[in-house]
Amino acid sequence: MAVRGCPEGQEMRQLDPPGATLFHHVPEQDERFKPEIDRARLRDLLLASLRPGTVRWGHTLRAVGGSAAGPRLLHFANGATVEADLIIGADGAWSKVRRAVSPATPRYTGVSFLEAWFHDVETRHPGIAELVGQGSAAAADGDRGLFAQRNGGDHIRVYLIQRVPADWITAAGLTPQDTGGIRALLLERYRDWSPRLRRLVTDNDGPYVDRPIFALPVPHEWAHDPTVTLLGDAAHLMPPLGVGVNLALLDACELAPALARHDTPGEAVRAYERAMLPRSTKMARLLDGAAEGLISTELPDFATTGDR
Ligand SMILES: Cc1cc2nc3c(=O)[nH]c(=O)nc-3n(C[C@H](O)[C@H](O)[C@H](O)COP(=O)(O)OP(=O)(O)OC[C@H]3O[C@@H](n4cnc5c(N)ncnc54)[C@H](O)[C@@H]3O)c2cc1C
Repeated sequence: MAVRGCPEGQEMRQLDPPGATLFHHVPEQDERFKPEIDRARLRDLLLASLRPGTVRWGHTLRAVGGSAAGPRLLHFANGATVEADLIIGADGAWSKVRRAVSPATPRYTGVSFLEAWFHDVETRHPGIAELVGQGSAAAADGDRGLFAQRNGGDHIRVYLIQRVPADWITAAGLTPQDTGGIRALLLERYRDWSPRLRRLVTDNDGPYVDRPIFALPVPHEWAHDPTVTLLGDAAHLMPPLGVGVNLALLDACELAPALARHDTPGEAVRAYERAMLPRSTKMARLLDGAAEGLISTELPDFATTGDR
């Protein structure tokens, strides 16, 4: 399966709150350091590579039962129960599978994202299209920031990033659905920013989406269990500084051949975890507390941050 990224998505601008450009990276035509791809497109490519029926939609996992001696049992919200000799928990930040091997739960980082979308940007939001370019644009003032990114299909997504309590919307007497109320609050908080940047805060299409940022404790490791393992955010949820998707894909790309190569699932899991756990611990240590860096006025290291 050929997956071609989008090299022009590597364009990156850093602005200051008054709107001056501090940094502008324009990728070379053959630059392949961090090509971009929309999540939905990647998901479609991966799904299309599977035999029809491989994914069973409509099965929300409630709990994992059975013991490490096997077999394991998957209990789904629709009443179905499935027996398995190996469960791979790829069920994200709030993984239900994780509970079978680890008591760890994600903790709030103190930083919250608010997601805003702009559609038909070339026609309806030309100023924002020009500001963001073909890649991304970021700005921060030490207490808040924003990160705007062009997506396929003429859409731009903006994350408004704030150091706030996780319940900042309800604490302000608002609900996540109260777009007008949240917009007024944001206008107040971003009042010193240039009108051009404030349009990224106020001109969005549709509601804001509240995304408080959580991370697992570091290190997050567990005693080997031959019947359960984890990958991606279920194993190593970190602040979103542009490595989460790549790490999840790398985990999967190593676990799959390990399963094909080893005589038993347990041996494969042991070999996979031997590489995955130290790798993710090393990265998690680097990113521990780094959510704060997203609102810092210090220029980020553009060699390692910013993707989709
Ligand atoms: C606001 C924000 C911005 C981010 N930006 C970036 C970025 O720019 N670049 C980057 O690399 N990473 C980014 N990340 C991190 C990235 O999204 C994750 O690291 C990545 O998606 C992890 O992939 P995953 O497959 O492990 O988990 P997920 O992508 O969360 O996938 C988990 C899957 O499991 C399913 N699932 C969950 N629970 C159940 C259940 N009980 N039963 C059945 N299915 C279930 C979900 O529906 C989902 O399909 C960002 C994260 C956040 C919160």
